[in-house]
Amino acid sequence: MTLVYCPSRDRMGIPERFAGFGPNKRQEIARLVVEIAKRDRLTPVTVLECIPAGCKAYPAVKAHLLARRFPEASRRGDKISEAFPAVEIDPACAMPLGRGENIPAPRMIYVEEAVKNSALARRATQKFPDARVSLIADYKTHTRRQAFDIPAYNRRTQDLFIIREQYDHFKPCPCSPGVVPCGYHNANLGFGCPFECTYCFLQSYANAPGIVIPANIEDLFHTFDGYQDGVRVGSGETTDSLVFDGLTGFAGDIVEHFRAFPRRVFEFKTKSTNVAGLLAVKASSNIVVGWSLNPQKVIDAEEHFTASLAGRLEAAARCAAHGYRTAFHFDPVIYFPGWEGAYEGVVQQLFRAVPAQSIAWISVGTLRMTPSQKKVIENRFPENTILDAELFTAADGKLRYAPAVRREIYRAMLAWIGRVAAPSTKVYLCMETASMWKEAGARVIW
Ligand code: SF4
Repeated sequence: MTLVYCPSRDRMGIPERFAGFGPNKRQEIARLVVEIAKRDRLTPVTVLECIPAGCKAYPAVKAHLLARRFPEASRRGDKISEAFPAVEIDPACAMPLGRGENIPAPRMIYVEEAVKNSALARRATQKFPDARVSLIADYKTHTRRQAFDIPAYNRRTQDLFIIREQYDHFKPCPCSPGVVPCGYHNANLGFGCPFECTYCFLQSYANAPGIVIPANIEDLFHTFDGYQDGVRVGSGETTDSLVFDGLTGFAGDIVEHFRAFPRRVFEFKTKSTNVAGLLAVKASSNIVVGWSLNPQKVIDAEEHFTASLAGRLEAAARCAAHGYRTAFHFDPVIYFPGWEGAYEGVVQQLFRAVPAQSIAWISVGTLRMTPSQKKVIENRFPENTILDAELFTAADGKLRYAPAVRREIYRAMLAWIGRVAAPSTKVYLCMETASMWKEAGARVIW
């Protein structure tokens, strides 16, 4: 059931029901009603009709709806002082999710002149023989006038850009303000991901009208050679580290290059099972292969087209047996009724599948998003369940679960992991404040 509220096409009758309310108050009421209706699988009119007859004034109507929309926070007595932006959901923006598990082949391959003779350009044209190929002077000029909106983002896998990356080979991880930094550096192995995680930050951040992959990985290596020992770098920030490896073959090249720098660590982060390139070369002790983990129920609902939990753990076990160190990221942990049993089960499954000694680190982070990301999510994934949760604006401006909920999640996750992890495994919280680390009992390790 997709519920749409548009102030100019109000079908709930909010202007008539609340004739004395100004436009901002009507907007708040509409947002609360639509969110309650979506979560409870009701019509907005039914929600409105449940407002007690005695609730006529704005404070009483709002208090009734807040208690219904945020029952846990209300029970705790939390003060709820949120902005409730207009509901603007366009059904034309919904992401079609019926393509099965295959990564769609591009229809167009755009190749920058500078890399037209690269191995990647050759491999792409061979791998996708039905795609049309167009040589372009450079990506920026070519895409300068292209409109970029949600429907364009939904079509992003149709266009593949093979470029010469000149500047952004590595960047320090852009931590949220006020959170404990982990000193990570992000390697740019591409921009854009064909998976569809409902919470993905790329959907509100990306401004590329396709998938962009640099062909000049040797320049990334050259930049990296200038780094100091002790650095921890990884890909997986702006794309999944291994999802395109069948095309790029970067994984094997990275292992071979980093082998010469044993005091620097490189981490692949993936939700795929594409480990053939890693298994085709000798493992190196400074290479960590990381998987994001969630209960299968969450994968089914929120991580479309990604590998199953069992598939991820099986790929991790193969990498560990091959000699790689592994890493696991419970990030984002999704809070839902029964989350404890589901996540404790994943922790147990992980340690049954993968030897504890192979695990370099485990991170835990809870769902977070910017307000603009929330708007994109509700348009692209109208059936999502992550937005049904009680999310509040945190100090960094992101929407997060209430501190009490996050604390409960971290304490439980750290306890379950601590019972079975090897003493050498580092466990850290991702994008959390120092006070939350302390309250959760986590140690600062970086
Ligand atoms: S795998 Fe990562 S980059 Fe890809 S859609 Fe999911 S969250 Fe985004």
